[in-house]
Formats: sequence, C-alpha cells, structure tokens
Amino acid sequence: MERLRQILTRIDGKGYKAYKDIQGEYRFPQFQLFIDYVQGDPFALPSRLRVRMPQNRAGYQPEWYRLAHHRTALEDWLTRKWVQKIDQLSRRARGSGKSGLISVDRPGQEILKRTSVVVNGNFAEVRLTVGLPAQGRRILGRQAQQMLLKDLPELVEQSLLLTDSDCVSVEKRMKLADNQLAIRQVMRERGWIAFVADGSILPRESGISDRPLQTNEVVRFQSPPTLRETVAVPHGPAVTGMAIPDGITLIIGGGYHGKSTLLHAIERGVYDHIERDGREYVLTDPEAVKIRAEDGRRVEKVNISPFINNLPFGRDTKSFSTEDASGSTSQAANIMENLELGCSCLLIDEDTSATNFMIRDARMQALVSKGKEPITPFIDKVRQLYEEKNVSSILVLGGSGDYFDVADRVIMMDHYLPYDVTEKAKQVARVHSQRREPEGGDYFGEITPRRPLAKGFDAQKGKKEKVDAKGLHTILFGRVQLDCSALEQLTDPSQTRAIAQMLRELGKRANGERTLTQLVEDLYLQIGEHGLDIISPFYGQHPGDLAMPRKFELAGALNRLRSLVVK
Ligand code: ADP
Ligand code: MG
Repeated sequence: MERLRQILTRIDGKGYKAYKDIQGEYRFPQFQLFIDYVQGDPFALPSRLRVRMPQNRAGYQPEWYRLAHHRTALEDWLTRKWVQKIDQLSRRARGSGKSGLISVDRPGQEILKRTSVVVNGNFAEVRLTVGLPAQGRRILGRQAQQMLLKDLPELVEQSLLLTDSDCVSVEKRMKLADNQLAIRQVMRERGWIAFVADGSILPRESGISDRPLQTNEVVRFQSPPTLRETVAVPHGPAVTGMAIPDGITLIIGGGYHGKSTLLHAIERGVYDHIERDGREYVLTDPEAVKIRAEDGRRVEKVNISPFINNLPFGRDTKSFSTEDASGSTSQAANIMENLELGCSCLLIDEDTSATNFMIRDARMQALVSKGKEPITPFIDKVRQLYEEKNVSSILVLGGSGDYFDVADRVIMMDHYLPYDVTEKAKQVARVHSQRREPEGGDYFGEITPRRPLAKGFDAQKGKKEKVDAKGLHTILFGRVQLDCSALEQLTDPSQTRAIAQMLRELGKRANGERTLTQLVEDLYLQIGEHGLDIISPFYGQHPGDLAMPRKFELAGALNRLRSLVVK
C-alpha cells in the first residue's frame, strides 16, 4: 500500500505512460490488490484490476459456495452489491476520458455464471475496471491516491464484508437458488418442458427493458386447472403453476392477448432470474431453443432436406449453403443446426416465422402440387420430430387452425390468462375437417453432423488477432462482423463477449475431424473443470467481463460466422 502511494506521488504530473509503473501486486490491510493492466492513455480501454480478500477475513459460510448453484448465486449477488455501492459512490469527476471511473460487470435480470466475482475456499475476488485519473494526458497522482487508496478500500469494506442484513439477503438468495433447482429437477423427472408459476409477472416494462411491468394493469399468471401442478420446494410453501409436458403445445388466442409474452417468458426460463423479477419460477428445459426466420443469413453445408427439396436449378439441400437465405430456408437451417446440437424443444412464434414454412393449407395443396413446392411445412414434420427424435415444440399460432390436428394440447390466451382448450380444438378439427394431405413422408429424415475446418476461423486483422464483441448482438472476428441478433435467447453482452473468445478457442481445436457438436461440448467440459476464466487470453489475470452462454448460442454464433468452412 505504501509502495503504491510512493509510486503515485512520484509519477504525479508526468505523462500518462508513467502509469504503467503501478502494474503489479499490493498488500492492503484487508485485501490484496492486483493491477493487471494499465491503459495506455485516458481514452483507451480502462485499466483492469482485481481485489482479493482471504476467506478467513471475508468469513462467508462454506454452504454458500460449496455447491455450484450456490456459488453462482453468491457470486451474482456480490456483483450486484458492487454495482449498487459503486453507483452510490457517485462519480467524482477527476479529469479527462474515463478518469476516475470504477466499474464492475452489470448483470441483467438473469443469474449467470460470470467472471466478475470468484468465491472459493481460499478467497473472494472481484474483477474491476478503472479509469486512472488524468488531466489531458497528464497523471493526476493525488486523485489516483484518493481513488485507489481511499475509495477502493472503502468499497471493498462495504461490498465484500457482509453486514447482518446482507447475510439475510444472501440467505434468501440461497433459498431461491435451491427452490429453482428443485423445480428443475422435478421437471426433468416428470418430463415437463416448461413451468410457469401462478402469480408470475410475465410482461416487461418495455421493448428495451427487461424489468417487470409494474402498472396496476398487470395480469398475474394463473394456471388453467387441467394443467395445474404443485411442486414441493425445500424452502417455503409448495409452488403451484402451469406445467407444459413434452409433446406439441399450441398457444393460440386473439392478437394482443399475451401469446408472445408467454413464449418470451418461456424462452428466458432457460436461465434463473433474480428475486422480484416476476419470473423467478418461470422455468424451462435448458435445452429448449427459440427458432425464427432470418432471411439474409449465411448457411454452411446444412442438411435441410427434411424441410426443403427440389430447389430450382437442382440445388443440393442435403448439404445446403447460401450467403443469403430466404425466410423459409433460414428457418429450416436454424432448426436443423439446433437438432444437430441436441436441443430438446423448439420454441416458435408466428410473429417471427415464415408463413410458408409453417403452413400449407388444403386449398394451396389443391392448386400447387407437392412436386412444385420445395417446402415441406413444419406442420407435417412436427409430430415426427417428437415421436422419432423426442424433440418437443411450443408454438404460438393465432392465425391457423390446421395445427389442431397435430397438437397434444392447445392453450388459449384470453385477456392475458391461459385456458386449456384442447378438447374444443380437437372437436373443431373434427367438424371443420380440412382434408389436408400430410406431406411429411414416412420419417423425419436425417440430421447430418458437420466438421468445421481450422481455416474458417481466421481471426487475423492486419498483423494482429482481433476478437471482440460490440453490445449484445455483434461480434467482430478478425475481418468479419458477425450478427447475433437472431439468437433471441442471448441475453447479456458479457455472454456475447464470452462467445467471441470461445470462437477463438474453437478455432484452435477445429481440425475437420471433430464435429461441431463435439468441439462445443469439449469446450464446455473444459470450462466446467477450470472455470470460465480459461477462455480469456488473459487467464490468470483479470479475464475481462464474461458471462456463460449456452452451447446453443455459441454454436448459433459459429453457424453464422461468414468465414465458417465445414466438411
Ligand atoms: P400477442 O402475441 O397475443 O399478440 P403480446 O404477448 O405481444 O400479444 O402482448 C401484447 C401486449 O400486452 C404487450 O404490450 C404486453 O406487454 C402486454 N401484456 C402481455 N401480457 C400481459 C399481462 N399479463 N398483463 C398486462 N399486460 C400484458
Ligand atoms: Mg404475438
């Protein structure tokens, strides 16, 4: 600590480069400070440092971090505590650029495994970025002293040492994590795809905010009696709600009655949510994948033949490539890629689907013969998918009753409340028979694994390797820009940053032998063993702000990489 004070005194008023001298390790009374990286100038990427407090000082209960789900919940809780305390330590302007800013990764509504905080039996460590104070390009040593020798220890004290009321809050968080895990276990045992607890708040504040809608017009979720299930949880009263079993589930109802909102909540249920989110007990099979149409995307040698055949000019659909997919071919490719990866359920909304991919009604069949239509619509494949591949579907479809024939259950949204109308729908299907010809053939068809080649992963930009993310939806990979906006279950920019690094890792292993799925799964095994830090080029130091994506979003990004080459 004294050593740091001396250096800061010495370099006061010098050019910014002299800040490099503070790189290193320092011992404070309560903690250790690691200054891993010092920015080259006040406008560059901020400096990265870590504070580490020994566990015998932090004094966290071992039950809070011994099991993985508790540790993730605790690390997330601590990250939020830091965010809150940093916000309180209102920014005191200290000069140019990002001068004087201390920050930590900012979680959204989901509880994700991230690199921001690490807790184990030895220590609790927080990864911070700071803007070292400067005036122009001149070092403001005194302000840096205030920041690193006073504000920072104060923050550590307030955010790593827990008060009694903090402990109560952590305990609550642990109970929530236990309950979420318990319900997920019951879901697996009983074969449910999704569970939506009564009382949940599904709508969000706005299209750009993921917080719960909080007006008096919110209609809380209420399960229909026929789908109502009660699950015992380790803490507190049993949880009652709507269980969606595997199979084919339709969500129907008038426009603006809450269909898409329900599906969105189910999409996000692959993650756990924080207390007071309104979706704490909206839980979904973690291998369920949202599928949408995405015209314009690239496709690299995907077998889309279960859905698309006999394209003009005899184009091969067993190994289909395009730089510019249509609505229907992109939706087919999205499904096939996720089947290749082993998803358990497809989540599809009419709002973001290609109509000609979803339906082809009796009249159209009568006018346009099957031989003239390359698309086998999803309606003729959805049952085969379930019966042969054990892949379920949840479909939002307000505009076509043809699916009544193939659905296992039909849920109607009416004024934001769900009703089980399965019997009525089946009756309607009998009375208003459509005389559609099934066009799906005898079997679903083949899912063909692909083997990425190393040459598709060139991340060089000029002389340097360049891999980075911009916001939630864009990855810069060497010279190519990768658009992830169709990956609707990607929820945090730190996941996107992680995917960027993971793509680089996959590139090192791709050899034309291992399948895309094997590559992805091997990487996850390794992360499971060594932690998320290992995907960072700065392993052993501040690894950057990263959060764990699912393998579906990682593979989704890879599949959209315009340089990808497979055999
Ligand atoms: P649909 O897909 O049936 O057309 P949406 O799900 O898009 O309808 O919902 C329409 C609007 O209603 C959205 O603005 C949404 O925020 C709002 N909404 C959805 N569910 C609820 C609810 N339970 N309570 C209040 N408003 C809701
Ligand atoms: Mg809708």
